[in-house]
Amino acid sequence: MDQPTFAQAHRALEADETSCEELVSSFLDRIDEKDDELNAFTTVDRDGALNHARYLDSQRERGNPRPLSGLVLAVKDNICIRGYPVSCGSKMLKDFSSLYDASVIERLRDAGAIFIGKTNCDEFAMGSSNETSHFGPVRNPHDTDYVPGGSSGGSAAAVAAGLCHAALGSDTGGSVRQPSAFCGVVGLKPTYGRVSRSGLVAFASSLDVIGPMANSVEDVATLLNVIAGEDPNDSTSAPVEVPDYTDALTGEVEGLRIGLPDEYFTEGLDEDVRQMVRDRVATLEDRGADVQRISLPHTEYGIATYYLLATAEASSNLARYDGIRYGYRADLKETKESLRERREEMKSELATARTKGDDDRVAELEAQLDEEQRALDALYTRTRSEGFGDEVKRRIMLGTYALSAGYYDKYYEKAQRVRTLIRHDFDQAFEDVDVLVTPTTPTPPFQLGEKTDDPLEMYLNDIYTVTANLAGIPGLSVPIGVHPEDGLPVGLQLLGAHFDEALLLQVGDAITQSS
Ligand code: GLN
Repeated sequence: MDQPTFAQAHRALEADETSCEELVSSFLDRIDEKDDELNAFTTVDRDGALNHARYLDSQRERGNPRPLSGLVLAVKDNICIRGYPVSCGSKMLKDFSSLYDASVIERLRDAGAIFIGKTNCDEFAMGSSNETSHFGPVRNPHDTDYVPGGSSGGSAAAVAAGLCHAALGSDTGGSVRQPSAFCGVVGLKPTYGRVSRSGLVAFASSLDVIGPMANSVEDVATLLNVIAGEDPNDSTSAPVEVPDYTDALTGEVEGLRIGLPDEYFTEGLDEDVRQMVRDRVATLEDRGADVQRISLPHTEYGIATYYLLATAEASSNLARYDGIRYGYRADLKETKESLRERREEMKSELATARTKGDDDRVAELEAQLDEEQRALDALYTRTRSEGFGDEVKRRIMLGTYALSAGYYDKYYEKAQRVRTLIRHDFDQAFEDVDVLVTPTTPTPPFQLGEKTDDPLEMYLNDIYTVTANLAGIPGLSVPIGVHPEDGLPVGLQLLGAHFDEALLLQVGDAITQSS
């Protein structure tokens, strides 16, 4: 597959062999040619992208190039770009447009990036196959009978099919790394707090992070240089200095201490995937790395812990979609005016009637209020029943259950405790090793429809990725070739200590350069 990189485009621009406009046009042509089948984009902004490209070209002619001039970027449809739709793959937000730019978008725009469109994803980023999107599934460009992974499947497919240089995804439990592995591209989940979440539609706020996806480690590093760093609009963004990530790409692995966690190479792991990862580790060893086995004993609780905490946070975050302020609203006559406001007015009138002792008026208002309450409840219920898809509803129910009185201690609080244990496992591991190597996923991509009837099967696909989100550490997936049986991409995951993205990129670059 022809996989363009920004680094190549940048060189061609510097040598005046191409222009930003030409780059955008050629991606638009490829989108026309391929995206009917792939369904990677929910919106393509032809005019906006071309106009911005022309503007950047005029700036270049005046001797004002920007660091990312000519970088053509696709953005997952749960990240806000002002004036663009931000559907989150849901009917609930189908006709909603962003009112502001996410902080990462502001930074990228200032640096000269061109946004070519928004990419399809699992509904509210919940899924591992991109089959839960209201806009239909995305297909894997390597074989369209197969899923591209999820939830950032549109971003991964667009990068792999050469429909853009790079893309942004979001990763709550693996949604950048798993689709990157399935589509044969590079994807980084930064440390929690490394990249601002301002303008990322919330799924599970203590786990969510925006991450770059591209056809080379170098491009991912270039993007991280721009999007990393503290942001006053996100109180969880960390005041930690941002190094130059491209400087880290030295190709060096001499003396590097690599840990292979036993728990990531057990039952359920495809034999060929295991072998492919092992082979890469052997190459690193030949080049001077020191490899040792280690244990992360609480790994087995990762999936259960993740699916309790992520659903609990989602049930709370998604409460805002009630048909009142924005998004989809069920078509009920009673919704003509704001029901909530009307009720407030009636309540104050009722209070006055009570003070005055006007019993008839009190009875009348009470009856009206009851009716209004029923109408409001019907509006919420119908809006949410019609606006959310099955997977989102399943998660809201699971999360509400885990948070409800009587179950909170048993499930939610316990899961928080296990989360701490998982984090301690990693802290301990990084006392002995610099980086961990694991497969990104237990199997190569599966076929469309293969796991849709069995949510647990689907959740198990995240077994190697959710732990990094629970611990808040960074994870990078790099492509390591194709599976011998079906010829589909396989990814290797590198996990590092908090804020050690530079090391992951260094090792990821060494691995991909040697292939
Ligand atoms: N596949 C996982 C889930 O369904 C992860 C999703 C994500 O990272 N957004 O929750």
